[in-house]
This record gives sequence, structure tokens and C-alpha cells, in this order.
Amino acid sequence: MSLVASNSCDRYEEDVVKEAVRKSVDELGGLDKFVSKDDQVLIKPNLLSPKAPKEAITTHPLVLKAVIELVQQLGAIPVVGESSGGFLVEESLTAQAFDKTGTRDVCQQLDVEMINFDRVATRKVVNPGSTVENFKLPLPVLEADFIISLPKLKTHGLTLFTGAVKNLYGVIPGMKKMEYHRRFPNPNQFMEVIVDILELVGADLAIMDGIIGLAGDGPGSSGIPCEVGSILASNDLVALDIVAASYLGYSDSQIKYLNLAAQRELGIAELNKIRTKGDFSQPEYKKYDLPSNVLLSYLPNFLLRLLSQVLMSKPVIDQQSCTQCKSCLDSCPQQAIVEQKNGEDNHLEIDESKCIKCLCCQEICPFDAIRLKENLLFKFLRYLG
Ligand code: SF4
Ligand code: SF4
Repeated sequence: MSLVASNSCDRYEEDVVKEAVRKSVDELGGLDKFVSKDDQVLIKPNLLSPKAPKEAITTHPLVLKAVIELVQQLGAIPVVGESSGGFLVEESLTAQAFDKTGTRDVCQQLDVEMINFDRVATRKVVNPGSTVENFKLPLPVLEADFIISLPKLKTHGLTLFTGAVKNLYGVIPGMKKMEYHRRFPNPNQFMEVIVDILELVGADLAIMDGIIGLAGDGPGSSGIPCEVGSILASNDLVALDIVAASYLGYSDSQIKYLNLAAQRELGIAELNKIRTKGDFSQPEYKKYDLPSNVLLSYLPNFLLRLLSQVLMSKPVIDQQSCTQCKSCLDSCPQQAIVEQKNGEDNHLEIDESKCIKCLCCQEICPFDAIRLKENLLFKFLRYLG
């Protein structure tokens, strides 16, 4: 049986956050149960894109700060590493995310090194039997004594939920993330890749920022911030995610990649086999919007494999909101976003024949200009039910 600690935390106030993080970690036996003096501890927050903390897209800097301080109190050496989503040819989105999310301020204040995984050496790691024949992982990930996944509680258009496990996809350097989307366009295959990474990276602990999460069509600007009010912790990342997903209204069978991880004995994905500890309990009245693709979770795997591209919501560019910043152009693994030039009317469009509905463009768009057009059948079923 796995243990997930979950404690109430209703606001981003330094002392309140610190206390909730400490309580959740103590309920697992304390950080010193896992980490020793002089250990190199890699902390992996979720810095999906360069967004301010109030947008609830990235791990809040106060949660990061509380965790760094716990590590430093033990005499261990924390480092913070990330490769943000999307890719720009001329700029580093990860460096921008360090700035905009408040991560750089916290790291400078506490004298902690930040590692941009897009800019460090990697080593090839072969995992026989995995979907990707070999992964190139950043050396700081491979060399860390201990890894803490520090996710934000969010919905996700493609995988429906993102938390401690999916956060590890951000150890894959920039362009490679796009390559995996291109090579594994089917959601089933892509979920296998996520589980492969969990198996290889094997984070030792997760502490989740579930104070204000993201509902609706997360994990980017199209999501809706939602007050959940919890800090969760567990050394079973799968179990932690299952508990956090249940706060958003998911049943434990709906998040397929977590079930896949459980089948591969990487964690527990059944709520009745997970013990929760802590003072958090969700009020009955709290209900959140789930992503427009949520009905995919009811499809058996063989149908998901066959029909996902037909049934999934398709991205469309809202021309009124689009500023033509072109961030999505560089970040599309299929080069499906094209510039249309017609006299004075210059705009961007998505070429449906190339689009694999990976939703990278929606994740990265800074202006919430990529909307999801729901499949009519799913829309009707959602209306009925
Ligand atoms: S859709 Fe978004 S990311 Fe793409 S050009 Fe328009 S504003 Fe920029
Ligand atoms: S246009 Fe399609 S393929 Fe390109 S990033 Fe968006 S969803 Fe993915």
C-alpha cells in the first residue's frame, strides 16, 4: 500500500506554504528518511512556459522555496533543473521561464544552481523493451543522488491530467520533446513514452503544488485556475497523481498512463490501495471543468488507437487573439502551422492534414489564441451526460 500525504494550504503566503510542505513531508517520515548530507538533490519543477505564478500554469516559487530550504537544512545540495515546453529557434524558452515564473529569484536568493536541460550535455540511456530505443538524458539527471518532482496540479488536453509523472517529460531537452510527439502521435504510444521516462528517471519523491491548480483545457493558457487548496507528497509518484486527479473529479481508471505505469509496477494506481494522511479533505461542492477530450478516457485502448485522431478536439487559431508572435510555428513538431499571405491579410492557419493533435501549440501559445474545437459526437455526449 502506498502513502500519500495531503495537507490544506489555501494561499500562497510564505509561512503557510512552508508549514504545509513540511507537514506533508513529515507525514512520509521526514526528508531525512530519504536524503543525506552532501547528497546532490535535483528538484524538477513544472515550468511549462514563461508564465507569471498567478496564471497557475507553473509550480509556484514559494513551493519551490520551501522545498529547497528543507533540502538545505539537511546539508544536502539542491539544484533546480528544467526544459520547458515548446521550442524557439532563436531564444531559450526555459531561460525565459526561469525568469517569469519567479524561479530565478528564489534560486538567487538561496544560492541554488539552475540547470537549463536544453543547454547541458546528455548521455544515451538504453532501456530494452521501451517504446523509444534510447533516450538522451541530461547528465545532471543521471548523476543526481536524489530527484524530487515538483509538479503543479493540472488538467492536460492530451493526457487529461499532468502531475508528478508527466512533469518528468521536462527532463527531455527541447527539440527531443517535439520529436517524440512526432514519432508517437497516437495518445497510447505517447503515454508509453511518458511511462518509459518514469521508469528511467525514477524520481524518488514528489511534492505537488495543488494550492491553485488548473482545470478545463490545461495545461497552458487555455486552462482555468482552480482553488484546490492542498500540498501533496509521496514517494510513489503514480499514487500521488491518482489522488490529485481524484480532486479534479477523475476516477482512478481514467488516467491511462498512470494505469500503464501501475501495470509496469512503477506505482499504485488504485485509490483503494492508497493510504492518505493529512488534514486535507475536499469540500463536496468543489467541481471543476475537465478537458474537452475527457471522453477519450472511456474508450478501450484498441478504439483509442484507431479513432483518437478522429475524435480528439482539433486546435484552431483564434485570429482575433493571435498576435502573430509565431511561438507556435517553431514548436509544432509537424510544421503544420503555416503563414497565409494574401495582400494585407497575413495570418496563421493550421493545416489539418498535417496536424497530429499533440496540442504543443496550445500549450505554448502565450495569448490563449489556440482554441480546441470539440468533436461533435463528444460534444453531444457531454451535453447529454
Ligand atoms: S497562435 Fe499564439 S503562439 Fe501562435 S502566433 Fe498566434 S499568438 Fe503566437
Ligand atoms: S498544429 Fe497540430 S501538430 Fe502542430 S503543435 Fe498544434 S496540435 Fe501539434
